[in-house]
Amino acid sequence: MEKLTFERPIIQRLNAGLPSKYGMARKLDPISHIDGVSIKSLINEFGSPLFILSEATIRRTYKEAYRAFSSRYPNVQFAWSYKTNYLNAICNIFHQEGAWAEVVSGFEYDKALANGVPGEMIIFNGPDKSIEDLRKAIQNSSLIHIDHFDELYDIIHLSKELKERPKVAIRVNMDVGVYPKWDRFGFNFENGEAWDALNRIMAAKNLDLIGLHTHIGTYMMTTEAYRIAASKLAQLAVSLEKKHGHALQYIDLGGGFASKNTLRGAYYPGSDTAPSFDDFAEAITSALMSSEIKPEHLPMLILETGRALIDEAGYLAGTVLANKRLSDGRRATIIDAGVNLLFTAFWYEHDIRPIEPISEQTEDTTIYGPLCMNIDVIRGNVMFPLLKKGDHYVVRRVGAYNNTQWLQFINMRPNIILLDKEGKSHLIRKQETLETINAQEIIPEYLQSFNL
Ligand SMILES: *Cc1c(COP(=O)(O)O)cnc(C)c1O
Repeated sequence: MEKLTFERPIIQRLNAGLPSKYGMARKLDPISHIDGVSIKSLINEFGSPLFILSEATIRRTYKEAYRAFSSRYPNVQFAWSYKTNYLNAICNIFHQEGAWAEVVSGFEYDKALANGVPGEMIIFNGPDKSIEDLRKAIQNSSLIHIDHFDELYDIIHLSKELKERPKVAIRVNMDVGVYPKWDRFGFNFENGEAWDALNRIMAAKNLDLIGLHTHIGTYMMTTEAYRIAASKLAQLAVSLEKKHGHALQYIDLGGGFASKNTLRGAYYPGSDTAPSFDDFAEAITSALMSSEIKPEHLPMLILETGRALIDEAGYLAGTVLANKRLSDGRRATIIDAGVNLLFTAFWYEHDIRPIEPISEQTEDTTIYGPLCMNIDVIRGNVMFPLLKKGDHYVVRRVGAYNNTQWLQFINMRPNIILLDKEGKSHLIRKQETLETINAQEIIPEYLQSFNL
């Protein structure tokens, strides 16, 4: 008979389904499979830790978002926010679904071009566009979203030298009732700067003003903010039509929809509080449809939502390295993925689960990563089953921002795999090796050797 593992006896208050201060008592059910594929088998094949992305979830989520908007508005276009996850395989899934590219740097711009996105389907946002970036974007007929007056003057200057007419929009920031205000990007609505910029663009004979853009924040929990943003952009569009007789091709509401992750310190889980795509779509489209924009000039509606499209599809699986008791007797579990891989652990109370039924016992636990750094905390306190060294865990909803913001630090970054719709696994980013890191380094001649 197999020897049973010893479990330390502890005295614990029974909650028996009664709501506590934090809502109903919840059990951490194990997650053993993703899209029918055993997580354990994936760890055995591809190593630990391991990022796993579900293609079925990405496509399902995209279709849900697209349906929410396109069933309420006649002309809808999504553009994939590269910085949210710019693994080429992931970008191409979104492009296959029909999304354009939304980029915020010359590097991301080149990545989108290299993926095969036509220039006129690349939206170039962000405060950092070099003259060379702008020249390339103009020559490729990309959609340039101007962030500040210095950029506008650069574009006007370039337009005199180039034969192509720059296609431009401005980014607008505004008070949408959510504070602190995001007013560092683009031109302000309330103080008249946005209107000033639009008039200057109309006066510059070589520029084509084709759209208006805003991105009001990230992880927005209120749809009302989008209703305000859409109606303020619509007001600008109406003013342009009145004063200049100029109709815009599109209005771009940016991204920022909350995913179902739970923010640190939040009272209720994000899966209960995040508005649905239908909710966001209702607020945005009703503001546009009921605006004074003439029906025959109703612009295309562009959405650049990032995290809400990809968070759910990403998982991080790995292995427990050790357990220990902190000086106050608290249980600590050390896992093999740290905050350098899971950057979003700084913002979210990530949903971390065992991959097998371990024990009915749970204990208030701090989950640490493997880094030699005090801040390497994956969960500050969570009622967690008593996983042992060698047991496996999986963290849910890690698809957004982690594979772009992660750091190579102390250890190398691990494999990333994509599970296709048939449950077949594809390696889409290889784990780093010492050679990968050393390939970037140059040791001066005189430092190549030493005698100890
Ligand atoms: C980051 C970003 C997005 C995506 O934001 P999410 O919060 O992930 O939806 C969209 N547009 C712009 C301009 C951005 O900078």
